[in-house]
Amino acid sequence: MSTVTRALEGLDEVSLWQEELYRHLHAHPELSFQEVETRAEIARRLGDFGYEVQEIGGGVVGVLRNGEGPTVLFRADIDALPVTEATGLDYASTVTATDADGATVGVMHACGHDSHITCALGAAALLAQRRDTWSGTYLALFQPAEELGAGAQAMVDDGLLDKVPHPDVCLGQHVLAAPPAGHVGTMAGPVLSAGDSLRITIHGKGSHGSMPHLGIDPVVVAASIVLRLQTVVARELAPGDFGVVTVGSVQAGQKANIIPAEAVLLVNTRAYDEDVRVTILAAIERIVRAECLAADCPREPEITVLDSFPLTDNDPEVTATVTRALVAHLGPDRVHELGRIPASEDFSVIPDAFGVPYTYWGYGGFTPDMDAVPNHNPAFAPAIQPVLRTGTEAAVVAVLAYLGSEDQT
Ligand SMILES: [Zn+2]
Ligand SMILES: [Zn+2]
Repeated sequence: MSTVTRALEGLDEVSLWQEELYRHLHAHPELSFQEVETRAEIARRLGDFGYEVQEIGGGVVGVLRNGEGPTVLFRADIDALPVTEATGLDYASTVTATDADGATVGVMHACGHDSHITCALGAAALLAQRRDTWSGTYLALFQPAEELGAGAQAMVDDGLLDKVPHPDVCLGQHVLAAPPAGHVGTMAGPVLSAGDSLRITIHGKGSHGSMPHLGIDPVVVAASIVLRLQTVVARELAPGDFGVVTVGSVQAGQKANIIPAEAVLLVNTRAYDEDVRVTILAAIERIVRAECLAADCPREPEITVLDSFPLTDNDPEVTATVTRALVAHLGPDRVHELGRIPASEDFSVIPDAFGVPYTYWGYGGFTPDMDAVPNHNPAFAPAIQPVLRTGTEAAVVAVLAYLGSEDQT
């Protein structure tokens, strides 16, 4: 019997409490940086499994030392979204929260991080039960606030590098609308884009709508900027390079006969290459400043970074090792080429801080008879099984590709 098969012998038993835990987490979601109960639940269970547990930067890390060998870090994110659930599930969330504007919003695990927690805890339990199948050190890391792109950095800022053993490799996974439930998808190289959100404030000079010559119209400056930004991807990037520049919001003024004093743009960018990202951001700044100068704005524009997600660039060697192990365990029919996903993640902040390679893969959330709804949709309701089983198996298989005490092939 292979190492992996022996390590997974307890999966049926683990699945029983996993299904219950998953329903509980789904019904009790917590927003980014407010994951108090979620963190306590994770810490308690890791402690019960025999891990050394530390709370770091709003997250939790469990360390299991099991003799000589490499150190592997497996990361799961734990936060929910301000989305009002519309799944109709009997374990649907009815939790609400107050947003920054004082409005009441629903809270939902619409990105499936409840699945990530459950699979990672299942894997942690199995690895603790079957220490005879591996040797080395295992780090089960649970990260807050992925949805803000800030939780991984918060853990690093709180001393993650000094508080846990230095990993040799980092692993992570996400439940997705595709491939189908029971399947996984891996990919070497850039798999998730780098994404930045900017707020741009243009300072004009207010005036009566009938007297434009006495003011400086920020609406016209904003309009010029929006049009000119369309040339960044079309004219400045090489035709083969991927980039997106989207102006998602333009706000200025309240009334037809008043020229407002300022205009505010919200801009989102995506890239699969750090050089392309730098080119896009520099071009945006140059265009904004130049248009304001051209209009003789009384003050320099303000450009604020609202959030910044790094590139997720899977190491080819780590990806090959993990993919080989997944194919050996799940069979080639259940392991796919994931393909690039233009969404973004802050997972890579952790391996980048340690200076170690990583891979991040996807596992399917929906059986073929279900409507495969995308993440962040209010109807996002993955099947419980075989999703939790597959996510747990994938985690154990990938970890044992590094820590397993015998060749898996
Ligand atoms: Zn998400
Ligand atoms: Zn997510």
